Formats: sequence, C-alpha cells, structure tokens
Amino acid sequence: MIEYIGAVDQGTTSTRFIIFDHDGNIVDFDQKEHRQIFAKPGWVEHDPMEIWDNTREVIQNTLEKTGIPGSRIKALGVTNQRETVVVWDKKTGRPFHNAVVWQCARTHDICRELIRDGGQDRFRKTTGLPVATYFSGPKIKWILDQVPAAKRAAQKGDALFGTMETWVIWNLTGGPDGGVHVTDVTNASRTLLMDIHSLSWDPEILSILGIPDSGLPRIVPSSDPEIWGVTSADGPMGACVPVCAALGDQQAALFGQACFEPGEAKNTYGTGCFLLLNTGTAPMASTHGLISTLGYQLGKELPVYALEGSIANAGSLVQWVRDNLGLIETASQIEALASLVADNGDVYCVPAFSGLFAPYWRPDARGIIAGLTRYANKSHIARAVLEATAFQTRDIVNAMNLDSGVPLTTLKVDGGMIHNTLLMQFQADLLNVPVIRPKVAETTSLGAAYAAGLAVGFWSGTRELKLKWAVHSILKPNMDEQVRCKVCAGWEKAVERTLGWVDSG
Ligand code: ADP
Repeated sequence: MIEYIGAVDQGTTSTRFIIFDHDGNIVDFDQKEHRQIFAKPGWVEHDPMEIWDNTREVIQNTLEKTGIPGSRIKALGVTNQRETVVVWDKKTGRPFHNAVVWQCARTHDICRELIRDGGQDRFRKTTGLPVATYFSGPKIKWILDQVPAAKRAAQKGDALFGTMETWVIWNLTGGPDGGVHVTDVTNASRTLLMDIHSLSWDPEILSILGIPDSGLPRIVPSSDPEIWGVTSADGPMGACVPVCAALGDQQAALFGQACFEPGEAKNTYGTGCFLLLNTGTAPMASTHGLISTLGYQLGKELPVYALEGSIANAGSLVQWVRDNLGLIETASQIEALASLVADNGDVYCVPAFSGLFAPYWRPDARGIIAGLTRYANKSHIARAVLEATAFQTRDIVNAMNLDSGVPLTTLKVDGGMIHNTLLMQFQADLLNVPVIRPKVAETTSLGAAYAAGLAVGFWSGTRELKLKWAVHSILKPNMDEQVRCKVCAGWEKAVERTLGWVDSG
C-alpha cells in the first residue's frame, strides 16, 4: 500500500496542506488565504479561529481531491509563520485576542523599556536575539497586560500560550479534549524566552516579562520519534495520524533545501525574506546584527544552529503595491511592469513599514520612496520595489560574510518571489554570486514533510534526503562593478533617510 507524508504550512498570508510521496514530490495541495487585520498603523493581527478553520478546510479538500484517505498519511509535520502568538483558553479553545503577528510593532513601548533598563542585547547571550518587537515574548506580555480575561486565566493556569505550530498541533490533536501543547526548538528560539544553550525556558527572562511558565508549551525536537500525539479521528484527517515534526518556516526551508552541513545557506523570498546559514552544533554569536537561532533538532541528536538575517518586508511590499497603490492586479504582474524600463531611474524604495530588522534593528525607521524626479514613472517604482528585496539581502550577506569570516559563494533560494526572474537576476548581479533555484520550490512544506518522515522511518536519514535535492536553474552574475557600487551607494543613502522617522518619547 502506497503511503504519504502530510505537511501543514501555516504561513503569514495563507495556510496550505500538501501531500508528498516517497520521492519528495508534491502529490497535491490546497491553500487558503486569511485576512490581514491592520487595526492601527504598524499593527498586524490574524484571527486564530479563521486560521484553524482554514487548516481544517485545506486538509479536507486535499484528501478529497486526491482520494487519499487520512489513514494512508504516515505522519504529519507542521511548519509555520514564526513569532506570531496566540493566547487561548485551554477549556474552551477560544483565543483571548487575535494572534499578534511577527510584523506587528505594538510592543514598541515594552521593548523600549526593556532596552532602557538593560540595553538592546541584554538577552542576546541567553537567547541569541536582540530585544525587538519582532519576537514573541513581548507580544505575549502585551496580550496579558492589555486583555484582563487573559491575565486572569493565566494566573489561574487556564491560559495557554503558543506560536502558530503550537496552536495548530493543539487543535489537530483534540483541542480542549486532550490536545498536546508543544513547541519545537526552532519556534521556541524565536520567543526571546528560551535559553538556546540548554533548550529550556529561561526563568529570569520569564520573570522580567511577567509571563507565567504554566502557560508555555513543552519544548520538543523538530523531528521526534517520540510522537507527540495523533490527529483526532473525527477531525479533518479522519484518522489517527502521528504528529511528530514541527519547524518554523525558515528553518523548514533550510531543511527542505538540504542545508545539513555547516556553511550551507538558503534565502527564502516570501512575505519577508530570511537568509539562514547552518553553523553546526554550537551557536555562533553575531557581532554584525544577525541573530543566532536553532536550525533544527532531530530526536535526541545534538541541535543544529543557524545564523539568520531577517528582513521584515519583501513580498509584502509587492502586495502593498498591488493592494494599496493598485499599480498591479496580481503580484506576478510586477515583473512585466518593471521590465518596461532598463533601470530604476535612480528611484529607491525602502519598505521599513514597521521599522527595519536585520542588520539594523531600528524600530524608529519608516518606509520611503526616495530619489523621485519628474522623469520617474510607475515602472521605475515597480523596479525599485523589486530591487529593495535584493538590496536588503545584500545587507544581510555582507553581515554574514563578516560574522562567519567565510564569503558566500552561491545562494540557494526559495519562496514565492523566486519565480520573478528579473529579481533573481538582479540579486545575482548585486551579490556577484550565482543564485540557484531548486527543482521543488515549496521547500518550506517539504522541510516539514522531511522532518515528519524521518521521525517515523519513512526516509532513512539526511543522506537520503540530500540525494533528492536538485537544481532547477542558475542565474549567473552579470553586472559591471562600477554600476554595482553606484546602485549600492544609492540604496545606502535611502536607508539612512528612513532612520529616526518615528519620534521616541
Ligand atoms: P509566505 O509563505 O510568506 O506567505 P510565499 O512564499 O507564498 O509567502 O510568497 C508570497 C509572496 O511573494 C507575496 O508577498 C507576493 O507578493 C510575492 N510574490 C509572489 N509572486 C511574485 C512575483 N512573481 N514577483 C514578485 N513577488 C511575488
């Protein structure tokens, strides 16, 4: 009997369910977008119940259209938008507040106070992270501080906290009726609450933030032969399928790109953009604005760490051009619009919508379009929009080269934006290294499926997975050094002008 692996990919813009076969090929999938809720400038929320409903729907639809019963899915892995948090009632399963999304800047004041009391790097040694609105801990604190019912429940031990994989796994395994409350090491490493050396919640940070550990999930490996639970037979899978793998989306992409050796890196171009470099079994500290994070952990093996450069806005800038400016109807149309001109016409766009993440970590920055002249038209803006992602990536690569001491020689890429050849060519030109697109571009779901399959022996080990990875296409650099210097100088000037826009006080 043919068996499969299922992956739930709970992303920032949508939720997907994908079925993979033993060759690592996609059998079929279903996907549903959820609402982006912008209550105030700089705030971003999602409705956790909408996301859970969508998860159920995409699983059911995929099983239905393939005719594959849940009982033929050997194991389930979950990958997710990271840092986004939900606080919910463990008796009813109802959230106390919308999910506070990773891009949301509402914890600005909380972070400012933490920084004032101990500096931006006060938790870096323990957590690998700077204090920033990006991470989960301050978001949980915000909900507990602002929602009295959540605070009361947390004090009584009736509230559960979690990132999105925790929320999805809890619901898949029974919800209020015995759902398992776990988080994998990669997601836990984004909370600003976990000691990345001991892989446990740090009591001192919890006490500084006023977060009771009773609501926190159990920290587990990313791929775990000690299965956490099974899906409810009366749930969307319609069968008891082992749930035994979870990885934050970027770590899942690292895994799906088979970056199993120290020195191997990938960059994912989705809503944001995230470059991760495998640094082996010890965390590497960054002195150039990157973060140290968990890459993955397989069962009882030593954890693998990564250096990461996180960019908050990449594809989301394209969405903004589509939804807020109305210059295009679909994201992919931006390539044709940008191709109408030969260059950016000296226009630069810096999407610091909720501040700048790596390597700047400046919550006071806000977005700009700079260098406008009467000559500039919408195609120049489209080009500047695409180039923004490549420039931001270059900033990260520069920091990574300095931190690791080993210059990057090629870049493996994935994510929705890599189908944009104009962008990928510009990226190769700017970095002056070849950019490699893989055959399976859905590396995030693939990584979660790989992790689940390893846990149940569907695949034998990382060596077997490595053999499955294959190249789709390579874009070779082709830009004059003088041109590169000129455009990079323009970008740096534009970034400079975004800083300090939000008054502190
Ligand atoms: P996520 O997993 O973060 O939801 P995806 O990897 O699915 O994101 O990529 C979707 C993002 O990529 C969207 O923000 C969209 O605007 C952008 N995008 C998709 N196709 C293109 C394209 N051809 N050119 C530029 N941007 C694109």
